[in-house]
Amino acid sequence: MDSCCGHANNLRFDGMDKRYIRTLWIVIIINALMFVVEMAGGTAADSMGLQADALDFFADTVTYGITLWAIGKPLSVRANAAFMKGISLVVIAAYVLLASLYRVFVLETPVALTMGIIGALAFAANLASVLLLYRYRKGDSNIQSVWLCSRNDMIGNAVIILAAAGVYATASPWPDLAIAFLLAGLFMNSAIKILRQSIQERKEARHHHAAP
Ligand SMILES: [Zn+2]
Repeated sequence: MDSCCGHANNLRFDGMDKRYIRTLWIVIIINALMFVVEMAGGTAADSMGLQADALDFFADTVTYGITLWAIGKPLSVRANAAFMKGISLVVIAAYVLLASLYRVFVLETPVALTMGIIGALAFAANLASVLLLYRYRKGDSNIQSVWLCSRNDMIGNAVIILAAAGVYATASPWPDLAIAFLLAGLFMNSAIKILRQSIQERKEARHHHAAP
């Protein structure tokens, strides 16, 4: 989910393939549904890890949506969209960090079984996206980043399943909080990358504009 949510490079996309666009729509819908399912499950099970992972699905839904919308738009428009994406990731990172810190003081042990089941569901959802996008994985950087993103998120989902096992084994919330903090750090890392690149792109766009 690191390079995932850091898909700043998709700014350079200019290809337009109907089948790819339809596939991207399906992946967007899968991500939106999983955001709702995992957020509900995370709230019900008192799992910060699930809630943080759900926000990753949310960020990806918005990001792929922007990717779709930005196809064919001028660089300055795409750079601004990427900048907003970076800012929203900062907000998500801050939320997960603060909510997890709060949990350190108000400890509540998550329901390990729900955590494991929803984690497995999230894994399956990302696997489905990876398979759908498989034939496009060698396309341009935009397509590649969406594919890599879903693939990297599968690693995060697997860690959630391990954390669920850890919660079960230790009967403590710490494995859950550990992954929530980890995810907050990854969000922040991606946000910084996106913001840096979008600021660079904005400069480039302005330069091109100024050129005769
Ligand atoms: Zn992601």
